Amino acid sequence: MTESAQRELLVELAASLFARGYAVGSAGNISVRLPDGYLMTPTNSCLGRLDAARLSRLDPSFAHIGGDKPSKEVFMHRAFYQARPDAGAVVHLHSTMATAVGCLPDVDPDNPIPPMTPYFVMRIGRRLPIVPYYRPGDPAMEPAIRDLAVMARAVLLANHGPVVSGKSLTDAVYAAEELEEAAKLFLLTRSAKTRLLDPAQVDELIATSG
Ligand SMILES: [Zn+2]
Repeated sequence: MTESAQRELLVELAASLFARGYAVGSAGNISVRLPDGYLMTPTNSCLGRLDAARLSRLDPSFAHIGGDKPSKEVFMHRAFYQARPDAGAVVHLHSTMATAVGCLPDVDPDNPIPPMTPYFVMRIGRRLPIVPYYRPGDPAMEPAIRDLAVMARAVLLANHGPVVSGKSLTDAVYAAEELEEAAKLFLLTRSAKTRLLDPAQVDELIATSG
């Protein structure tokens, strides 16, 4: 896909996320890996009103080389690209349900959302580690994310929101949407007896979904 097509797709998917309430105000940021660097949503930009021509352009070492100044959360994206050579895009949201799960003190910090549906398992995998709370912009968050992203396609920042990677921009957005739905199902059924996918069913999904 050309850079110009990636720019148009990023603007379109960001507007769709915003329209459905996955991001509000200037929250949330999205990046895409290009053959010679990265595209990143600009600082203080609203996902509902991005301009393809003004997206931040970064070189392979994440230096700002064009467009508006990048999001202050660019280091979260860098942590994922460095930890996961297969990551083609990263989506960070403050989506309500996933963020709510990241505020629960009594969940498994390695995998707070149990395997309830196949598409959650196929898109997110076996693990969704929780990164302990850091003030937004704290540089100590980057190595904390990087260490966990080596083993997981997505992480949940405690009291903040999810960061999700994918092979492509579309993959990363679909995975972020699936995570939000899984978080919603988990919260809806939390006080009810729930039938989960069993370990053999999870193994089968992991083995067949690549
Ligand atoms: Zn954030």
